[in-house]
Amino acid sequence: MTEKIGLIGLGIMGKPMGKNLLQAGFPLTVWNRTAARMDELVALGARGAASPQEVAEHSDIIITMVSDSPDVQQVMMGDLGVIHGARAGSVVVDMSTISPQVTREIASALKEKNVDMLDAPVSGGEKGALEGTLSIMVGGDAAVLERVRPAFEAMGKRIVHIGENGMGQVCKLANQIAVVLNNLAMSEALVFAAKSGADAAKVLEAISAGAAGSWALNNYAPKILRRDFSPGFMVSLQQKDLNLVMEASRAMNLSLPGTALTYELQKSLQAHGLEREGNFALVKVIEQLAGIEIKGNVT
Ligand code: NAP
Repeated sequence: MTEKIGLIGLGIMGKPMGKNLLQAGFPLTVWNRTAARMDELVALGARGAASPQEVAEHSDIIITMVSDSPDVQQVMMGDLGVIHGARAGSVVVDMSTISPQVTREIASALKEKNVDMLDAPVSGGEKGALEGTLSIMVGGDAAVLERVRPAFEAMGKRIVHIGENGMGQVCKLANQIAVVLNNLAMSEALVFAAKSGADAAKVLEAISAGAAGSWALNNYAPKILRRDFSPGFMVSLQQKDLNLVMEASRAMNLSLPGTALTYELQKSLQAHGLEREGNFALVKVIEQLAGIEIKGNVT
């Protein structure tokens, strides 16, 4: 029997994920705080609900894709939240990036109602959501993951069970550490080359295929050379995730000097009103320190 899916949060990521669920044939009920954002999916066959509670009442698997920990708490536990509508035996899957600790708290509240939860944050960005090629990092019971797997397969390509509840979020935060430090490495390399008088486009062509190669160099550097800072993944969300990393690492007395440095540098983007640009706008801070701007003709 096809499971009925509920989806809460139809932003940059949630809406294309919903389209892929509909395309895979899942009956879908949706809710979004700004109601107009539901129209497109309703036109494609989804049922629009009046609250997260109503989504849960109509669904076997309830997916949330909102912004930060307080937002997930709100749609799950608040007035008209998921917890008030979820039936025993249904599964709640939070695919937002939030705190591992808050995740564990929500999972245990749901467990008291015999509702299982998976934390299943994603990487792959808007492109991955549109193309159904997200990487999905899962925390929670392995048997519950197997139940949800067909829905995950409609949205993603690589689905990895990391461990118990919270561990999906831990994996996602590890991913974010690697992302920002790759962005910083890319920024310093390109600024160094440009300040030395080299053609940044040629440097990029030469180094991206070697030991310095990275996703950032392949995907972000060409946009930097074209001065196109449209997101992708916004600086504000990147800072939200680094904040989660540092909150978790503080609790473990864990030093992450590179991550802390990048967080501080990116504050300058926020101070300059650039927080809605793509996270690779980090290069602008390094450019400002150098007194130059990188440009180049990418082939
Ligand atoms: P987004 O475009 O800003 O969408 C956020 C969604 O959450 C909107 O539907 C918004 O509703 C809803 N929302 C936020 N706070 C809410 C609240 N308190 N109550 C009810 N609804 C609320 O963000 P996104 O890019 O889709 O990101 C969603 C999540 O995926 C985030 O946790 C992000 O870190 C993660 N993520 C994003 C990317 C990416 O590349 N964008 C990649 C991987 C992971 P409204 O429409 O009413 O504002």
